[in-house]
Amino acid sequence: MSGRVLIIGSGIGGLTAGIILAQLQLPVTVVERNPQPGGLMRSYRRSGIDCPVGVHYLGSLDRGQVLRRLWDALGVTPLIPLKRMGAEGIIDRYIFDDFEFNLPAGIDPFEENLRRTFPEEQRQITSIMADLRETSRALSTFDFLLSPTLSDLSPERFESMGDCLSRLGCSLRLTAVLGVPAELIGIPLRDCPVYYYYMTLASYLLSSWRLAGSGTAMADAFVSQFQSLGGNIVAGDGVAAIEVEAGHVKGAVLSSGRILPADVVIAAVHPETVLSMLPPEMIRPSYRERVAQMENTQGLLGVNAAVAADLHGALPYNVYRLYTGSDGSLARGIFHQLRESGQPGVNLLSMITTSSIEEWRPWEKTMSGRRGEGYKEAKINRARELIDGAAELFGLREMNLLDVYSPLTIRDGVNSPGGSAYGIMRTTKQLMKAASLNRAPVKGLVFAGQNRMASGIMGTTLGSFQAVRQMIGHEKFIRDVAGRLI
Ligand SMILES: Cc1cc2nc3c(=O)[nH]c(=O)nc-3n(C[C@H](O)[C@H](O)[C@H](O)COP(=O)(O)OP(=O)(O)OC[C@H]3O[C@@H](n4cnc5c(N)ncnc54)[C@H](O)[C@@H]3O)c2cc1C
Repeated sequence: MSGRVLIIGSGIGGLTAGIILAQLQLPVTVVERNPQPGGLMRSYRRSGIDCPVGVHYLGSLDRGQVLRRLWDALGVTPLIPLKRMGAEGIIDRYIFDDFEFNLPAGIDPFEENLRRTFPEEQRQITSIMADLRETSRALSTFDFLLSPTLSDLSPERFESMGDCLSRLGCSLRLTAVLGVPAELIGIPLRDCPVYYYYMTLASYLLSSWRLAGSGTAMADAFVSQFQSLGGNIVAGDGVAAIEVEAGHVKGAVLSSGRILPADVVIAAVHPETVLSMLPPEMIRPSYRERVAQMENTQGLLGVNAAVAADLHGALPYNVYRLYTGSDGSLARGIFHQLRESGQPGVNLLSMITTSSIEEWRPWEKTMSGRRGEGYKEAKINRARELIDGAAELFGLREMNLLDVYSPLTIRDGVNSPGGSAYGIMRTTKQLMKAASLNRAPVKGLVFAGQNRMASGIMGTTLGSFQAVRQMIGHEKFIRDVAGRLI
């Protein structure tokens, strides 16, 4: 495929695909419905403080590591100021009702900590560490991108991590500790494919990072790199319809009525959104059914609050407050990040927990900014639980609430069905079905973004490289793109 490329969505998924294609000197236009490009990468401002949305921490950005090599290939690394986490040896602190576990930086320290904390479970830990190291190795070779088959990252093993841990006979405590990385990608441990699980855990253990400086730097870096390569961005005017002729895409009609011709359309948005853009007669009922049946990850509730720096210093690690159910499995988690805000004397406390769209049904038909007092009250009530919890956790007497966002905010902010945070839930049950959606119903249409292969910044980036490989073909990919990854 060659010719004009139109990309729907300017999140990291759309812009990554856009940068690779612009590097290949193809004429690329990214279309974004929001006035500002960047999707979940872009932070928003409250009381002069940048509040993050979809980037709290990133893994594998050290020299030679996976995300770093992908960013180097895109040419964005020097544009994104980063701060390494784990200065005190810890990336995450897990706090349960009756015990704590520190997730250290590095795979070897992680193993040592597991062995020390769970001395009775040496056999289980040996097996878990072997799988973790193997996944980490496979990831770093980019096998799934560089092998000639076009299959996506399809795990050879369809076992779930939950089943794996119970097969090994892990205790409830060890299972609870190991359950946290599955939470990070919004998949219950019992359904989380081992490959995705280890990919997530390994990526953060290898090295963890936060954005330093302005919260908009990452979005700005991707935008400026794309534009400097000749890429064109149309913002504030979303794609309303994809035009198709004789079974092949021929362009898109924007909400304003503007028509943009294209030979290839890359959809870096949810497949459900894409279906609503296609002529209905072009979609096979079986494809439509698969999309309709697809289970998405849950929504999230996020709270950002300002904390006087003299009341509590910034922490170079994240804190998870975790609650287990009666069977010992992880029932609920609250993520906390207490970091410098960019304003002197003020730290920013970000808190996130899962929140089902069901909680927000009464306001389902309302729009952001016009949901009414009842919604504000409901948000404040939910925020209060998190604030009270954090006050106790950090011994804070005072904090200034900056903002609360709900799944409806995410739904309307980035057009994510049902306010899902990470899109399609890649469980063992629907792994193959999810992968099959990448065979698009019309020619010239390619899927990218977090729904292509995996969520998170690394999963989305890998998925967009894979989308480009599908578009330009394996040989050209190896010749013109892969060289930059090695
Ligand atoms: C609260 C939260 C916290 C997170 N924290 C982390 C983290 O700390 N680390 C991490 O690795 N990952 C994190 N993630 C996940 C990560 O942010 C996402 O997986 C990733 O950013 C998804 O990128 P994307 O390009 O697929 O989607 P998006 O960033 O959602 O981009 C899609 C874009 O498409 C646009 N769009 C939609 N419909 C149309 C249309 N019709 N026409 C034109 N444009 C359209 C949207 O406006 C949006 O800009 C988090 C996610 C959430 C929600």
